Amino acid sequence: MGVDYRGRFAPSPTGPLHAGSLVAALASWLDARAHQGRWLVRIEDVDTPRCVPGSDRAILEQLAQCGLVPDEPPVYQSQRGTLYQNALDSLTTRGLAYPCACTRQDIARALAASGQARERHGELVYPGTCRGGLHGRTARAWRLDTRADSPVTWHDRRLGPQSQDVVHEVGDFVLKRADGLWAYQLAVVVDDAAQDITDIVRGEDLADNTARQILLQRALGLPLPRYLHTPLVLGANGEKLSKQNGAQALDTARPLALLQQAGAVLGLQADMAAATPQDWLQQAVPLWATRLKISR
Ligand code: GLU
Repeated sequence: MGVDYRGRFAPSPTGPLHAGSLVAALASWLDARAHQGRWLVRIEDVDTPRCVPGSDRAILEQLAQCGLVPDEPPVYQSQRGTLYQNALDSLTTRGLAYPCACTRQDIARALAASGQARERHGELVYPGTCRGGLHGRTARAWRLDTRADSPVTWHDRRLGPQSQDVVHEVGDFVLKRADGLWAYQLAVVVDDAAQDITDIVRGEDLADNTARQILLQRALGLPLPRYLHTPLVLGANGEKLSKQNGAQALDTARPLALLQQAGAVLGLQADMAAATPQDWLQQAVPLWATRLKISR
């Protein structure tokens, strides 16, 4: 596949890497190397209130200590607002996205009035109130009209066939938030296309976003990447590892041990006598390729 393959690791700089995020970084790096492709890092700093200053540099340093060095300079989403605005304008002009004046309370009221109380991960399923126009109300957010092409089916290289009825399960989702910030869904889709990403390898907790991202790719006429969602590292409470449930900062003084732990989560359990992170990585590439049946 050669240089046609472009993969990426796209951390949000909300703190340093932990054992879970290292698994996603390692898997995306291994997949890129197994395909003799390129590996990029993109700092997803659109949700500025959640970003921790300096953690972008900390993440890049931790990655480098583990031998994971991007092939191109990292890009920062906070500097790419024009690209996102252009994409939103193109969707709005074509009637695929629309401004929405509803507060959370308005949405709850509309759902109650229609006898539905649909909620998903604590988010109300937007019933499409503003699809027909604002009727004099002031725009707060912008949403994608998800009525086209539902359900969305796609293939995950590890999880197999997937399907989601976006319009009913998620609703018209937000592209630009009421606080003026760009939503992850729009930024990630625009950037993956702008950076010619062919393969997305990321944690399984993000798999649920894929159908929404595919709807956006179709609406914007963008190529569809391949997807592979990696196993999660669970915290003491059985949930995805996060700072809240005990994720420790990685001890990058021992990068080899960190790589071995992350590799074990990915099923790379062979006895690898490696002296340095670079040695370990070189030995892990063919194991990954064999595991995923990647032919060179
Ligand atoms: N920035 C997202 C996160 O850290 C990952 C985005 C992606 O890989 O698509 O959860």
